[in-house]
Amino acid sequence: MDLFLIGIVFIVVVLLLIIVLGLTSSEKEGNIKDFPSKYPEQKTAEKEHYDVAIVGAGPSGSVCGYYLGKAGWKCLLLEKKKFPRDKYCGDAVCKTGIEILMDMGIYDQLIKQNKAHVSDNGGMCSPGGLSFIGRSQEGFGPVPAALACKRIHLDEAIAMAAKRAGADLREECSVDEAIFDKNKGLWTVTLDNSDTRFTARVLVCADGAQSRLATKLGLVTRPPDSTCSRSYVEGGTHKFKADGVIFYNKTLLPGYSALFRHPNDVLNYCCYIIPGNPEVKGEDLAHWHEWLKTNDPNIKRALGPDHKIERMKAASLRIGGEKVSYGDHVIVIGDAAGMIDPMTGEGIHHAMEAGQIAAQFLQEVLLHGNYDSDVMKIFHQRWMSKFGYDFWWSMIFAQLVFRFPILIDAATAAVKRKGDKFLLKWADIMTGRVPKLHMLKPEFTIVITYELVRLIIGKLFRFGGKDKKEE
Ligand SMILES: Cc1cc2nc3c(=O)[nH]c(=O)nc-3n(C[C@H](O)[C@H](O)[C@H](O)COP(=O)(O)OP(=O)(O)OC[C@H]3O[C@@H](n4cnc5c(N)ncnc54)[C@H](O)[C@@H]3O)c2cc1C
Repeated sequence: MDLFLIGIVFIVVVLLLIIVLGLTSSEKEGNIKDFPSKYPEQKTAEKEHYDVAIVGAGPSGSVCGYYLGKAGWKCLLLEKKKFPRDKYCGDAVCKTGIEILMDMGIYDQLIKQNKAHVSDNGGMCSPGGLSFIGRSQEGFGPVPAALACKRIHLDEAIAMAAKRAGADLREECSVDEAIFDKNKGLWTVTLDNSDTRFTARVLVCADGAQSRLATKLGLVTRPPDSTCSRSYVEGGTHKFKADGVIFYNKTLLPGYSALFRHPNDVLNYCCYIIPGNPEVKGEDLAHWHEWLKTNDPNIKRALGPDHKIERMKAASLRIGGEKVSYGDHVIVIGDAAGMIDPMTGEGIHHAMEAGQIAAQFLQEVLLHGNYDSDVMKIFHQRWMSKFGYDFWWSMIFAQLVFRFPILIDAATAAVKRKGDKFLLKWADIMTGRVPKLHMLKPEFTIVITYELVRLIIGKLFRFGGKDKKEE
């Protein structure tokens, strides 16, 4: 009982600290107009240089290119691969990303072509063995909570939309370096194995988690810090009935594994290693990917004895947001700037939202004509206010669930008690639709604390600690 009290006091102190620090951590946004105009740009294709050169046509770069192209700016979008190209991912796109797909006119196309599957049945399995699968579509109105779309389809659709909107998409153009001429206020971008050169007023580094360009420019100074796996499971060979389930296995916390359903009954099985657990190292991803598949009873049951699964693929995650995502005439967006939530490992919707925020911001600076570092910092302040400060809370909550896995049991029990609507609200928090601090609202704290106490008493007196499982 003493340990329990110490635990509760610890949680309360941490949460109070979080609130005090959080309230003082945000920064007031600057005003572009406070800076002198140096090189204002006109919307004309006649000039030799591009207004903006974007390096990387993943979700962040292509969304940015789409909105700049649509607004009539001369925008270059350089991609080292040729579409359609794969990208190792869990393929789950959250509501914010879906809204942007709808705004770009791609959503219906992906559904009609049977390239995306809307997730309706979803839920979670807790470390203590509780589980809940609920329905989401009815409560969410016209925009679904999530969908699964293979990146080979999603990224091509977004890049082609950017091209149609007017961005000059150049595939198989691997950027080697970018050199800034301070006198002219222009970048010269060079490619690997090519003499072709491009000049641009502003550079956008959207080249993914490795962030090679921003690292070369000295803006990003650390390597990626996490890793994640993916394996597709052949349709018709597994037993999984839901659309998406998160499996919190105690040994992997704060990381987790997940199954997401694609069209044609195909599944994506992935495993996220998230920093914070000294026993779980990124280099052991292959072990965890395999171990969970064969030892976690829920995953094992969902996959069934006859499932056919592809070889594990893996890629890095850069999570929690970089401290600096700007410099003279340059910004960094998406994974390159670490825009991945440290609690979920998800970043597609943040990458897309950052692309949108960047395009809006760049239009303002292009019209005004000042691209100094102090002005570009305003972009950093904008995305930090929109979702970046929330990453900080995610890190704290990730640590809390690692130290007290029973918190996820309690949250799962609360979702079971309250049903689908509660699950939708929970999903909004987990996917960054609303700040993580909403977890501290009475509607969550009361029911979760109630379940927490119930579980602890159940454990102490050895009753009710393990609820009946729902399939
Ligand atoms: C295994 C795994 C599972 C994941 N699961 C999910 C999930 O289910 N849901 C979710 O929301 N997020 C998930 N994520 C994160 C998600 O993949 C990223 O947040 C998202 O891809 C970020 O988009 P981006 O455009 O910033 O970068 P990327 O998608 O990495 O795109 C970068 C682009 O830049 C190009 N490029 C790189 N270098 C150069 C160069 N020198 N010159 C030209 N082009 C270049 C690349 O070819 C690529 O096309 C997962 C990540 C991993 C690794």
